[in-house]
Amino acid sequence: MASYALCIQIASLSTITVGAKGEVTFRPGHYLYLGSARGQWTHRLARHFRADKKQRWHIDYILMAPGVELQQAWIGPDGLECSLAKAFLDQGAYVPHPGLGASDCRCPAHFLMWLDQAHKKAEILTRRECRPLALEELNQANSVLS
Ligand SMILES: [Zn+2]
Repeated sequence: MASYALCIQIASLSTITVGAKGEVTFRPGHYLYLGSARGQWTHRLARHFRADKKQRWHIDYILMAPGVELQQAWIGPDGLECSLAKAFLDQGAYVPHPGLGASDCRCPAHFLMWLDQAHKKAEILTRRECRPLALEELNQANSVLS
């Protein structure tokens, strides 16, 4: 089990159909998604980077939309996703759409808009023992999947 953070860029104003939630409009900018993976976290993260998959979670619909780029993934200890969401909200992230990406918890959302403060982001994540995922690790996970 692991927690992870996805760093996502949306290039232009985008209206995306996010499953049952319907059409959601996103302003261009940087976003963060805080999630958790049971079992093999490498499989979950590799899945996020894949273009061909069945849409299951809110984040799947967002990541598969045109103009949306998954730029980086961080991985860390289990059970951190809600405290990471809170930490980013405390540090100036905000909730573009309440409830997005959060289902079984009391967080306002797990999909947050974040000004591109890379050093601050890294500080928040490394303080909680998260580390950026290396590309080779993802490639390895992908080769297991395919
Ligand atoms: Zn939460």
